[in-house]
Amino acid sequence: MARLSQADLIEVNRTFEERSPQELLSWAQSTFGNRIAALSSMQKSGNTICHMLQAVSADMPILFVDTGVLFPETLETRDRLATEYGLTIKTLAPEQSMAEQSAERGVLYLTPEGQKECCELRKSAPLDAVAGQYDALISSLRRSDGGARGACPILSVDTRLNCVRINPLVNFDDDQLAAYISENKVITNPLHDQGYSSIGCNRCTTPVLPNEPQRAGRWRHLGPWSVYCGINPTDLDPERSPTVEFSQDLVDRILGRSTDYMI
Ligand code: SF4
Repeated sequence: MARLSQADLIEVNRTFEERSPQELLSWAQSTFGNRIAALSSMQKSGNTICHMLQAVSADMPILFVDTGVLFPETLETRDRLATEYGLTIKTLAPEQSMAEQSAERGVLYLTPEGQKECCELRKSAPLDAVAGQYDALISSLRRSDGGARGACPILSVDTRLNCVRINPLVNFDDDQLAAYISENKVITNPLHDQGYSSIGCNRCTTPVLPNEPQRAGRWRHLGPWSVYCGINPTDLDPERSPTVEFSQDLVDRILGRSTDYMI
């Protein structure tokens, strides 16, 4: 096995800054073959990735974490994407229902410490079910989301799942995203039209006012708009330089090295 660190990805990340999202998706498919999936929470950016995957004829499943307390509109959006785009969507779920969890641990999401525990149980832990199945996961983080995402790299390593995270939309600003959705009639979560700029669990999501930051509606009850669920490792610790392990051949392909065994 060979090691791949975040530092190893600096050069390839630099060259990838010039590539379009569609080019990055095609690279991802050809590099990781059937060992890649995309993550979506059924918001604008994730749905745009779903549309682009279809457009570039990429063949990979979409992973969707159903925390058990999502809005019905979010589940309907998932079902429309599966039906109308012909996508294979794998729904992952936590071990306990919210009622069972609250009976055992209390209503966690009401405090900052409890929110971390609740998001770990209901968002991050369900994703552990696919550990070992994929070498790469595509997400839809954008730098224009601001906060911890302002410096999100295109490629990062995820030690928890031992995979590479790929964010093809990092350079897509709000106007570009809106234009793509409009031009391609991308299926979107109807809650976006009701003032929900960012959408998560029904317990922790509210609409935002026009002059508020886009993530102001997430965990509003916990304060200053800097909370993340933790399902995207770069949201929590963008400065780390962690390491994952792959075959040497896969590391060479990710880093664009041509391997020549002829002497
Ligand atoms: S968003 Fe709220 S309800 Fe959903 S998992 Fe996180 S803390 Fe729990």
